[in-house]
Amino acid sequence: MYNKSLQELSSSLQDKEISSVELSQYFLNRIKHFDGELNSVITSNEEAALVAAAEADKRIQSGDSGLLTGIPLLHKDIFCTQGLRTSCGSKMLDNFVAPYTATAVTKLEQAGAVMLGKTNMDEFAMGSSNETSFYGGVKNPWDLNTVPGGSSGGSAAAVAARLAPIASGTDTGGSIRQPAAFCGITGIKPTYGRVSRYGMIAFASSLDQAGTFAKSAEDAAMMLQAMSGFDEKDSTSVNKPVDDLLANLGDSIKGLTVGLPKEFFTDDLDSGIRETIETAIDTIKSAGAHIKEISLPNINLSVPAYYVVAPAECSANLSRFDGVRFGYRCDSPKDLEDLYKRSRDEGFGDEVKRRIMMGAYVLSAGYYDAYYKKAQQVRRLIKNDFVEAFKGVDIIASPTAPSVAFSAGEKKDDPVSMYLSDIFTIGVNLAGLPGMSVPCGFVDNKPVGLQLIGNYFEESRLLNVAHQYQQLTDWHLAVPAGYEQEV
Ligand code: GLN
Repeated sequence: MYNKSLQELSSSLQDKEISSVELSQYFLNRIKHFDGELNSVITSNEEAALVAAAEADKRIQSGDSGLLTGIPLLHKDIFCTQGLRTSCGSKMLDNFVAPYTATAVTKLEQAGAVMLGKTNMDEFAMGSSNETSFYGGVKNPWDLNTVPGGSSGGSAAAVAARLAPIASGTDTGGSIRQPAAFCGITGIKPTYGRVSRYGMIAFASSLDQAGTFAKSAEDAAMMLQAMSGFDEKDSTSVNKPVDDLLANLGDSIKGLTVGLPKEFFTDDLDSGIRETIETAIDTIKSAGAHIKEISLPNINLSVPAYYVVAPAECSANLSRFDGVRFGYRCDSPKDLEDLYKRSRDEGFGDEVKRRIMMGAYVLSAGYYDAYYKKAQQVRRLIKNDFVEAFKGVDIIASPTAPSVAFSAGEKKDDPVSMYLSDIFTIGVNLAGLPGMSVPCGFVDNKPVGLQLIGNYFEESRLLNVAHQYQQLTDWHLAVPAGYEQEV
C-alpha cells in the first residue's frame, strides 16, 4: 500500500476498495510506528484528520471528488494552519496557533486532501540538515546516522519512509531539492510566484517558494497542480493561468536539448556523484534528448550573493517576533527593552541569530552599498546567465547536491561548509526559476539526486522530463531498508 502512486490510491478510493478514513489511519499508524526514531512529524493532526477523511469519503460517495480527494498528506510546519500549531521549528512559535490557513494548504484542503500533521524543519527554514530545529534533528531513513537535508528535512524523511504519500515543503535556496536528493525522493520547487506565499512564514520573501515532495514526478505534478495559482492575498503571486501539469507527462523528450553547466562539472565534483549523474544524463540521452555544454559564468557567486540577500530579508521579516507582536515572551522583564532583548535572545536559536545579525549588518547605512546593493547586482547577473542559457537549451541538468547525506553533527559547527551544500541549488532561487530533484542512484548506499532546472513557468516540461526518466529507471521506487514492512 505504502508504495502506491497517487493515481493508484485515488482509484482505490474511487472504487471503494478502501475508504479515506482507512487510508489515513494506515499512514497515521506508520507515523506512530516509525517516527519515534525519525522525528519527522512534530505535530499530529490525528483527530481532525479522521474527521476530514470522513468528509472526503462523503464527497467520493456523492461523486464530487477529484484526484486528491481522500489522499493523506503532511505539511511543513512553516505553513499556517488555523487551529493547529505552526511552530516554524522555533521556540519562538512553540505555542503559536495561527488565526488563518495558508493558501497552499487551503487549496489542498479544497481538493479534499487530508492533513495528517506538520513536519519538522530547520528553524525558520534556515539550514541544510534539519539540525537547527527547536524540536531536535530529523534522521534520514536511508541511514539513521545521517541528516535528511534541510530545511524541509521532516517532509522529505517522511515521504522517503512512506509515512505519507506526499508532503509540502518550501525552498529558499534549495530546501526542497537538497532534502529530496538526500532522501531519495522527488521534489519540485516551481517558478517564484507560482504558489501563493500567503500564510507561509517568511524567511527571505524574494526567494521563498512552496513546492512538493512525492515518490514520483507524476505524484509531484498532481500535488503541485492543486497548490498552484494566482492569489490576490499575495502581491508576488503571478496572475497567469496554470498549465495542466499532467497533460504532457507522457510526451516523448526526443529532440529536447539539455544543457550541462560546465561550472557544475569541475574536477572538484565528487567522483561518485559525477558518475551517477553522467549515467542519468546518458539515460535521458537514450530517450532522444540532445546534450549540450553550457556556461553560467557568474554562478559561482550565487552562494555569497544569497548569504547577503537572504539574511537581509530575514532580518526584516523576523523583526516581528519580539514577544509583543508575535512570539515567545521572556519571564518577568525589567522593562520594555529587556522584554525585547530577552524574548528574542531566548526565543531564537544560534543560526537564526547569526542570520539576523548578518542581515542587519549588510543593510546598515555604512555597508548597504558595499554588500546589499552589490549582492542584488550579482543576482541580476546570475539571472541573466540563465536567461542567456535558455536561449539554447530547453532544460538544464546538474547534481542537486555536491555530496550524499552527511553525518549528523558533521557540519553543525561549520556554517560555511553547511552553506556550500546548496551550491547547485541557490542560483535557481536567485533567478526565480523552477527546479526539481529526481532520484538517480546511490553512492555509499545513499541516494543521489539529479537536479533539473526549467525556464520560467515551464514546470510542465520539467515534470515531463522527470517522468520520462522515471519510466526508464526505478530509483524513485526504492524504499529504505526497514520501512518496507507493513505495520
Ligand atoms: N540552506 C539554505 C539556507 O539555510 C536554504 C534554506 C531554504 O531553502 N529554506 O538558507
